[in-house]
Amino acid sequence: MLDERQLNAVIDLRHQLHACPERSGSERRTLERLRSFLEAHTSLRVQDRGGWLLAAHIEGEGLPEVGFRADMDALPVPGGAAHRCGHDGHSAILCGLALALEGRQLGKNVYLIFQAAEETGEGAKRVVDTWPGLRALSALYALHNIPGHPKGSVLVRRGCFACASCGHVVRVEGRPAHAAYPGDGANPVALLCRLALAVPGMIDDILKGDGRLLMRTPIGLIAGGEDFGISAASGRLNQTLRGHRQADIDALIAKIEAFAEAGCREEGLRCAFELRDVFPDTTSDGAAVDRALDRFRAAGLPVVTLNEPMRWSEDCGWLLRAAPGMFFGIGAGEDAPGLHTEGYAFDDALIVPAVRAFEALL
Ligand SMILES: [Zn+2]
Ligand SMILES: [Zn+2]
Repeated sequence: MLDERQLNAVIDLRHQLHACPERSGSERRTLERLRSFLEAHTSLRVQDRGGWLLAAHIEGEGLPEVGFRADMDALPVPGGAAHRCGHDGHSAILCGLALALEGRQLGKNVYLIFQAAEETGEGAKRVVDTWPGLRALSALYALHNIPGHPKGSVLVRRGCFACASCGHVVRVEGRPAHAAYPGDGANPVALLCRLALAVPGMIDDILKGDGRLLMRTPIGLIAGGEDFGISAASGRLNQTLRGHRQADIDALIAKIEAFAEAGCREEGLRCAFELRDVFPDTTSDGAAVDRALDRFRAAGLPVVTLNEPMRWSEDCGWLLRAAPGMFFGIGAGEDAPGLHTEGYAFDDALIVPAVRAFEALL
């Protein structure tokens, strides 16, 4: 439990982070501020591991090891960046846990992970790639503030908490020809249109009537040009794929690519594929959820179990593939503006319940 002085220090830190929003992958000043806060206020061993911070509470060798993770990046906005996802709050909350750890003997080692670049999906992957200790954790916990739910409530879901998603690009190259003789060339427009229309049927084939989410959002269908004398020779279809299960997305990608390749063979076209912004599903470990529910209830925290996973994605999915654990939400208020919207701002009133929730998991 934070005393008033500690809470004020955390709120002050949150305001400092808010005032220097930095985009994914360029969180230099944010890292400096977090590092100097931890060094000034705690005895944790703080390491900069190349773009992210690891703060360790070590009691000895051979003890169980648990991890807690926060993100820190802001969103790009015209003219700069802004904290419209509350990652300034998440980092401050984890610093609150750092203060609460001071002087405690828990019979375990605790690692606080301050990762960068959540919004691009790159930051958690960097933690996976640069810290072998992740795989030794017996549990990893992370949270996100979530508008639309009672303020300070703890939002828990068994299984998938947030969807997998990715951007998928199908690029088709053909050959130009005089518009009077399109047969002399190879025009990709019809194939790209057929492909765009075929995707809903592919999704039905994968789901076979199951109610889980698998969806495609057309982002761009770009082909040909403005010269009415030339038959189109190249084009691409950009789609965002999203679902409760990464395996479903993988199956959908396989179908889309097979369709495109078969069409290209028939029509003398060539195709290439690209994935962008890949986020796996953020899925909690069943045993970790059961344990956490017991502890949250024992601590008297108001727990709400969610029926549906969040549609958005979270790069914590990469961490939860390497270590068992749980991702959960802290309600930011029923009427709070949505994440990533202009009116959004992290509410400091969430710091106390969020630190209490993390403390309950220690
Ligand atoms: Zn976000
Ligand atoms: Zn976020």
